[in-house]
Amino acid sequence: MGYKLNEREFNQLLGELSEKYLIYAPKVFVGKGRFSDTDCIRYDKVKNVEDMELSLKSQYSFKEVLNPVSETLFYFTEDSVKEADMPRNKGAIIFLRSCDLHAVERMDEMYLNNGPKDYYYKRLRDNIHFVLIGCSKAFDSCFCVDMGTNKSDNYDIGLNVREDGYELDVKWDEAKDILGKMAKENSLKEEDVTVDFVKETTTRVSIPKNLSYDVSKSKIWEEYAGRCINCGRCNFVCPTCTCFTMQDVYYDANGKVGERRRVWASCMVDGYTDVAGGGSYRKNNGERMRFKTLHKALDYRNRTGYNMCVGCGRCDDICPEYISFSNILNKLDTAMKEVSANG
Ligand code: SF4
Ligand code: SF4
Repeated sequence: MGYKLNEREFNQLLGELSEKYLIYAPKVFVGKGRFSDTDCIRYDKVKNVEDMELSLKSQYSFKEVLNPVSETLFYFTEDSVKEADMPRNKGAIIFLRSCDLHAVERMDEMYLNNGPKDYYYKRLRDNIHFVLIGCSKAFDSCFCVDMGTNKSDNYDIGLNVREDGYELDVKWDEAKDILGKMAKENSLKEEDVTVDFVKETTTRVSIPKNLSYDVSKSKIWEEYAGRCINCGRCNFVCPTCTCFTMQDVYYDANGKVGERRRVWASCMVDGYTDVAGGGSYRKNNGERMRFKTLHKALDYRNRTGYNMCVGCGRCDDICPEYISFSNILNKLDTAMKEVSANG
């Protein structure tokens, strides 16, 4: 069922949905960019369409709605434990693009299908609805077409932002009911809407079909030992990075009382692979890059049949050392030839 709405009508729909749902969308944080006098676009709660930034790419993904940067899991005293309340007391609606909707599938795979279901993820994942923002053109660093994530039908509402209004393809009954009522009261008319998706990108990526763990022996990883400064930004912006660490925070007044938090972790930073006895598996930044690349483009695919990376290009945009992940993927073919030639 499709409709075309003006701004007031779209806000009316959002207003009615917000009685039961928190709405999350990309938003501009003025002056909060990485460089002075630049802005940052990241996800936050919004009330209306004026709060949203729907034309630019968000530097950070939707993932903190489902997996907060820092989440208290429970509180403990000397002899009791109390589960922390859920960070959200309503359902949620997330506005996101096709690559990110595919990234939700990756997050679900890691938190719900990779062993026992993660309780804390599941309670935030339940009662979520997705509004797919149509892409009429690709941004410079996107390579979603080559990763097969440029198109998705798995949405509740599909949205095209036009100069003169908002086109909606609605699959969700609650939204259909509201729009049906609005149609009776206003002059809304049903019309066919097809959500925009890109068919080509400037950045192209090709992962060799014969990619194997032998590529670990290639010399390409050595470059990153020097260039990468292990800041971890590439992990934090990535919608498919799901690693976390646990932190017990003890309250000062009583050292046996406190809370346990889980906090985002990064496989690129120091300490991630430290183990008991003072060992560390990947001290070199080139080894960390090798691990991250093969997880995104080989190891996960071997288990699920599809790549973990969705080609959003955020890691390329954010790296302070201008290290391009899409470039690394494109080097894998040469790297495989190098290791084959070396036997
Ligand atoms: S690895 Fe980079 S391009 Fe791939 S999903 Fe993560 S941030 Fe996006
Ligand atoms: S953002 Fe760049 S410099 Fe920082 S850890 Fe990632 S690859 Fe290394």
